[in-house]
Amino acid sequence: MSNSEVRVRFAPSPTGYLHVGGARTALYNYLFAKRNGGKFILRIEDTDEARSTEEFIRMQMDDLKWLGLDWDEGPEWKTLKDSGAYGPYRQSQRLDIYKKYADQLMDSGRAYYCFLTDPEIEIQRQAAMKSGRPPQVNSPYRNWPKEKALEKMAKGDKAVVRFKVKDEEKRDYHLPDLVRSDVRFPSDMVGDFVLLRASGMPVYNFCCAVDDALMKISHVFRAEDHLSNTLRQMMIYDELGFKQPQFGHISLILGSDRQKLSKRHGAASCHEYKVNGYLPEALNNFIALLGWSSPNAQEILTMKEMAEQFHYDRLNSAAAVFDPQKLMWVNSQHLRALPNEELWKLVEPFLNEAGLTLPSDTDWRMKALEVYKTGMNTLKDAVEAFRPLSESPIELSPEAQETLTWPSTRIVVEAWRKGVEQTGSDYLSEEQFNKLQDQIKDEQNVKGKHLFMPIRVAVIGKPHGTELKMLVPLLHKRTLVARAENVLSQIKG
Ligand code: GLU
Repeated sequence: MSNSEVRVRFAPSPTGYLHVGGARTALYNYLFAKRNGGKFILRIEDTDEARSTEEFIRMQMDDLKWLGLDWDEGPEWKTLKDSGAYGPYRQSQRLDIYKKYADQLMDSGRAYYCFLTDPEIEIQRQAAMKSGRPPQVNSPYRNWPKEKALEKMAKGDKAVVRFKVKDEEKRDYHLPDLVRSDVRFPSDMVGDFVLLRASGMPVYNFCCAVDDALMKISHVFRAEDHLSNTLRQMMIYDELGFKQPQFGHISLILGSDRQKLSKRHGAASCHEYKVNGYLPEALNNFIALLGWSSPNAQEILTMKEMAEQFHYDRLNSAAAVFDPQKLMWVNSQHLRALPNEELWKLVEPFLNEAGLTLPSDTDWRMKALEVYKTGMNTLKDAVEAFRPLSESPIELSPEAQETLTWPSTRIVVEAWRKGVEQTGSDYLSEEQFNKLQDQIKDEQNVKGKHLFMPIRVAVIGKPHGTELKMLVPLLHKRTLVARAENVLSQIKG
């Protein structure tokens, strides 16, 4: 690996589905790797034993795969086997590595075993707050020799490993952030912090810093809420003599109420967007623009275009507001740009799931999509659009009942059924439909709503809605006849 190789990572904690914020972090890192011919690494931060599960790891991977954010190194999709030269890529499988570095810090006097209990720490915190001091731990075990601590542990006492923050005059730590320029942290912002829990499990700041260094990560783009962790990570880098990656802290995503985006704002997980008929390329496009802008001011971009254009100098440090309407619009644009064959493949599972029975003939499908795709914002919208085209029987809507009471309705529907039956082809063309409608008007002497509404009820089961001249040519003659007969059977008298 050359020194300048770009290596970025996405490091999710697998405690649920991949949400929009996580997906954006993954996307920016992915795009940065693509733009710079670098590597995109997936690292699983599963040290929270209570909340991390293998099922969540798989779900997050499925979502990344769906979004097309393929990783070059990391646990492989499905098998979870490590792939790459810097594994293991799951933190729960790297515990001996963290232990080794914790020992190194202890040996160099920069870490110690600490036996303070939670209640003792709480008492210290309260006292510090009362006297207006920052609530930092002041451990009596700070300068204990390691042997003494080990003896105490041999007797069964539990200890965490704490990092010993340097006793020095207050100074500023300086972070040249790629998004926020110069970030300064006062050195007294943190007190001695935990590296390893009593269980031996590492704490996020420790394993993250060790892994970023050992995995030769060159750049870290992550959410702004990690900014305050970065000081601790910088201290660990310094003490272990590691080269620090370049950090870029990206803005938060807010809901329309300007609170941090969460489940309260509706769908926030990528999985939900998937099942609701959003396209991965549209979701990528939309979330990319939450905090980044194209140098050409493009609003609709393919992954390829984004990868060509992505640079951190266009990452915005101000918070972005998540607008579901805009997402839907972006989705509709990507959806309409798809070739019909491809769109059909995507729409079909939604139609099948809704139980619609539609003709299998390709020409028919392409024609039908051509008619309906302009009205579809999501793949799922196809269900309601295509429902009237299904061969399965349709129910009459309550509003249809009034139409059925008009004396002329039976005459119109009967004439309609007969006309359809007599058509030579399996499908009526638009002209044939118009001609038949005119013929019924002239022969039966009905016009206006008394003509159109009964026919509409006979075709779609309701008196209002879709333009029949578009719809009728897509319905097989046999379906039209069956529907007309169904309506006739429901006319009383
Ligand atoms: N596991 C952390 C998270 O999911 C990663 C933070 C980082 O990128 O350093 O927030």
